[in-house]
Amino acid sequence: MNPTLEIFSQGEEIVTGQTVDTNAAWLAQEAIHCGFTVTRHTAVGDKLTDLINLLNDIAARADCCICTGGLGPTSDDLTAEAVASAFNRPLEFDDIAFEQIKEFFDRRNRPMPEVNKKQALLPQTAKRIDNTWGTAPGFALQHQRCWFVFLPGVPSEMKGLFLEHVKPDLLTRFTLQPPHLVSLKTLGVGESAIQELIKDIKIPETIELGFRAGTDDVQTKLLFPFDYPKTDLDSLVAEFSQCLGDYVFAIDGLEEPTGDLAFEINKLMTATNHTLAIIETASHGLLAAKCVGYDWLIQASYDKNISQSNQVLSSSELLNTAKNLALNLQEKTDGSLVLVQLYTGKPEALKDKNLAIQVLTVLRVDKTFYESIHTILGPITRKQNQAALLSLDLLRRYLK
Ligand code: ATP
Repeated sequence: MNPTLEIFSQGEEIVTGQTVDTNAAWLAQEAIHCGFTVTRHTAVGDKLTDLINLLNDIAARADCCICTGGLGPTSDDLTAEAVASAFNRPLEFDDIAFEQIKEFFDRRNRPMPEVNKKQALLPQTAKRIDNTWGTAPGFALQHQRCWFVFLPGVPSEMKGLFLEHVKPDLLTRFTLQPPHLVSLKTLGVGESAIQELIKDIKIPETIELGFRAGTDDVQTKLLFPFDYPKTDLDSLVAEFSQCLGDYVFAIDGLEEPTGDLAFEINKLMTATNHTLAIIETASHGLLAAKCVGYDWLIQASYDKNISQSNQVLSSSELLNTAKNLALNLQEKTDGSLVLVQLYTGKPEALKDKNLAIQVLTVLRVDKTFYESIHTILGPITRKQNQAALLSLDLLRRYLK
């Protein structure tokens, strides 16, 4: 049996819904991939007795608990105090933690506010977890059957501490049998269409199949048990990959690390030494934004006139216009690849979530044109994002 793990989020803002508890979601995924069975998420506000009661309950029922938040310097940050009371471990001043907090302010040329001194108080015998991302050190301790880990609430700090210190420690402290997760990332196909494409695959009962539709992809997830034979895993993944065909832009969980669509395109662009120039309309700059930081993007533009004057054209007129724009852009720039995105639809279609737009993308490579056309519905932010992704996907398909 896997050890059990609970996640405990501290803070009034979490309980009242002012802050969405992304820490719990992220930690749960991490814990599952480590091999824990996550049994509960609990959020508690800034009330000392509630915190103490919950800590005692968890100490009796879980093997591990990760708590985030409440380690700050202000009066509503009560985690260390609650631990001290609940587990009868008085707070002690930790000199090293204090030096680290002081250094944090020294490096920023700021005097340390007196209140931050409080963050150097840790429950007796707790193991300090050094925080190089912020001021609050984390700490960990055993009470009854449970190994408790306390981390700051700020997501970037929490993630940094977890990945650098906590995860390696948990992997040695517990006997874990991590399952193996493989995710096939697709674009341009919905969950129900995926279900149809894979319907003939025989999936062994020990494997969990799931789907996750995000803003930038739809993932088909296969969770394999710890001891599932590698060759069988590879052949099942290959079968899924074959059924999903060209829609798959990356497979997570195999040897090679993967990323989002632009990350995958970057691998192909750098391997082939291409450069890219773009004109975008429906995506309003989002296409270029997705390529930020990649050297192969040499020019990108959004032009309101181009965008609006083409909305009323027929499909063939639109295609001709896009090709002409691509030829001009190719002449003007040294881009070995040129991408032009135009769209049609009623004038109000972009902003009206119930009206669709047709997005045409033309890719010019040497003397050849490639094109794709997609119908996109939904709120403007979805239309912009999908337009950017689907245009980029034409590029990926060419490079592949
Ligand atoms: P700090 O020293 O930075 O105050 P802390 O441990 O006291 O660290 P909190 O004060 O509880 O952390 O939270 C700091 C910020 O981190 C919150 O304002 C919120 O924006 C974010 N945060 C806290 N808990 C969560 C959570 N569970 N999920 C997402 N964000 C969170």
